[in-house]
Amino acid sequence: MTGERVALVTGGSRGIGRAVSLSLAKAGFHVCVNYVSNEQAAEETLSAMAAQGGKGEIRPFDVRDEDAVRAAVDGIIRDRGGIDVLVNNAGIWRGGLILRVDRRAWDEVLETNLRGAYNCCRAVIRHMMKRRWGRIINMSSLVGEAGNIGDSLYSLSKAGIIGLTKSLAREVGSRNICVNAVAPGWIETDMTSSIPEEIRRETLEMIPLGRLGTPEDVAGVVTFLASEAAGYITGEVIRVNGGLYM
Ligand code: NAP
Repeated sequence: MTGERVALVTGGSRGIGRAVSLSLAKAGFHVCVNYVSNEQAAEETLSAMAAQGGKGEIRPFDVRDEDAVRAAVDGIIRDRGGIDVLVNNAGIWRGGLILRVDRRAWDEVLETNLRGAYNCCRAVIRHMMKRRWGRIINMSSLVGEAGNIGDSLYSLSKAGIIGLTKSLAREVGSRNICVNAVAPGWIETDMTSSIPEEIRRETLEMIPLGRLGTPEDVAGVVTFLASEAAGYITGEVIRVNGGLYM
């Protein structure tokens, strides 16, 4: 690609999305940092990007809202000239054994994790097809492949992300668009901060690399998938889990 390269990171305000935004900015992308409610966190991401000499801007929208997604994507394309990389990172977790999962949790998780990613893919794909270049990186999870007690709802949303990734990779490969998923294991962010200490200890014992993951561990892989060097990789699920699931 020539000229300014533009990336949109959904849920870029905190956790993995923040690290991805910082890493892509370091790699030279103009990064559009999306968030839904935590404006202050998004501002902090932008400041951290600026402090390392990176460029970007904040684009608030709710990934669940198809019209809002489309308006935001069209706005970025108009203002920045295009979107080269979409990172579908926004996600939420709701746990519980299957009999305890209510309809509300179902709607929240599927609307955010699945429909959100689907909305964003649909909003950018025509544009990427026209340009014959694009990278879409979807955030799945170890749980989407391995399953976990108390995670039937979350894991089905993350397994869905893998189906979306593979189907879309087949659909748009001929247009030089690579679509991949990243499946993190246990990464230390707000999402995992309330998991009880005992489960943390037990999980640590099962991780060959002997530590929990950092958002930066995931961000490095996403940045690689966004790079020219990854131009012959599509439809893959790259695990970033310290060996917890192989
Ligand atoms: P996090 O710290 O809880 O951050 C979630 C991010 O998603 C925030 O930026 C949040 O924005 C944004 N978001 C939530 N709902 C949204 C919506 N409707 N529209 C737009 N943005 C929305 O989560 P994380 O741990 O970094 O996780 C990031 C992704 O990695 C998720 O998809 C998660 O499922 C996946 N993942 C995480 C782990 C882990 O161990 N942490 C493991 C595997 C996969 P606000 O700041 O505005 O709330």
